Amino acid sequence: MIRVSLAELATRLNGQLIGDDLPIDSVSSDSRAVDSKTLFVALKGDNFDGHNFAQAAVDAGANALLVERELPIDAAQIVVANSQRAMGEIGAYVREQLAPTCVALTGSNGKTSVKEMIATILSQQHRVLYTAGNFNNEIGVPLTLLRLKQGDEFGVFELGANHAGEIDYTSGLVKPSVAMVNNVASAHLEGFGSLEGVAKAKSEIFNHVTVGGTAVINADDAFADVMLQASSHVKQLCFGVKNEASRDLDVFATDLIADSYGRYAFSLCYGAEVHRVELPLAGRHQVSNALAATSICLALGLSLAHICQGLSQLKPVKGRMLPSVLGRVTVIDDSYNANPASVGAAIDWLQEIKGNRCLVLGDLGELGDNAALLHRELGALAKAKGVNSLFCVGTLSEGASHAFGSKHYQDIDDLVAGLIQYINELPAEITVLVKGSRSARMERVVEALTTAF
Ligand code: ATP
Ligand code: MG
Repeated sequence: MIRVSLAELATRLNGQLIGDDLPIDSVSSDSRAVDSKTLFVALKGDNFDGHNFAQAAVDAGANALLVERELPIDAAQIVVANSQRAMGEIGAYVREQLAPTCVALTGSNGKTSVKEMIATILSQQHRVLYTAGNFNNEIGVPLTLLRLKQGDEFGVFELGANHAGEIDYTSGLVKPSVAMVNNVASAHLEGFGSLEGVAKAKSEIFNHVTVGGTAVINADDAFADVMLQASSHVKQLCFGVKNEASRDLDVFATDLIADSYGRYAFSLCYGAEVHRVELPLAGRHQVSNALAATSICLALGLSLAHICQGLSQLKPVKGRMLPSVLGRVTVIDDSYNANPASVGAAIDWLQEIKGNRCLVLGDLGELGDNAALLHRELGALAKAKGVNSLFCVGTLSEGASHAFGSKHYQDIDDLVAGLIQYINELPAEITVLVKGSRSARMERVVEALTTAF
């Protein structure tokens, strides 16, 4: 962060400063992560009240508090109406003072993947601050802004949405030069009602693009027109995988070829330039993510050669299509998270694999009223696309097992036992792709297979 004074913050926040004006070097909402020049923010949630930890924060060294009511604690305090919003405002203030060039990206799938790609590309020659893990909501985005430091040239922000208005708020703090919606699919339907609702909420990201900035559009997404319309006030850069039906594309991939792990090589085209790229990550959806990252970096002014150099250095991460070869058994750990579109992408990936293809699926959460139907559709899709065996665990995915015609499991240990028996009885090579929502904790299956084979 940059050094700020309490008086300066109180003015910006329309808050009341009680006590001495002091210098502040960091802001934290975690009473255990404070030091002698930390402003502790007392956040209030449904199940907790940070005001109860204010004394602990001061005892741990925090020199000031940001609170919604004056506390009987011997420390300087700024009293505001809403401490969470005030923390966001401090983040926006730090961002304004340091003025890095910012990227904001959202989408139903692939936000973290694209963000990591952009960070890898930019970090080759620049100082970049980017969202850690999944800190992409109304609290995570301010906390990320507060990590900006003098000398950071770029900020890359993943924005998530659980409800309409959230992205309008977080992108308003980030004020991106480049903004993108990676895709629109049925994730978090519960908060939006319909896919159109999801698309509209995500398109809020274009509301705060800075003057002269760029909207990056995924032309292959069903909601591309919605995004083009929502961003018509700024420059637009369209990407996609080229086919006969493609609209005008600024950045595109052609001549896709997959290796036996489903890692793609393709020609990456921009204007008159063509580069052959070999992606070190498995899955066709990563081609789309690479096009998204490329377009964003082009909009930031990087050269295509430099971008391709960065793409070739990408590393797969745990839980995201991470392959382990265990003799004749290949396990693909995609257990980090799932929704219907990403399960569809996983099934597409499996379809191109030689040998026996096995999908292990845990329940997909947050699908609202359509949950049962969507699970049944996934079971049918797996069958239609030639998956040889489906092992599902949980209550919701029972419909998937039914549609596929496979035994269903309520208990993960039973599933693991059944799966190991299936593999042992099979003489052939087998690829087991393990997937499910975060709440399903399907990494337990990956661990069991890695121990067994
Ligand atoms: P979250 O909402 O959990 O933050 P995210 O949008 O950040 O998710 P990632 O973490 O990058 O997404 O990927 C989540 C899952 O989506 C992975 O299982 C991955 O295989 C799949 N996925 C990634 N990119 C795409 C894409 N472009 N299309 C479809 N599925 C994708
Ligand atoms: Mg993410």
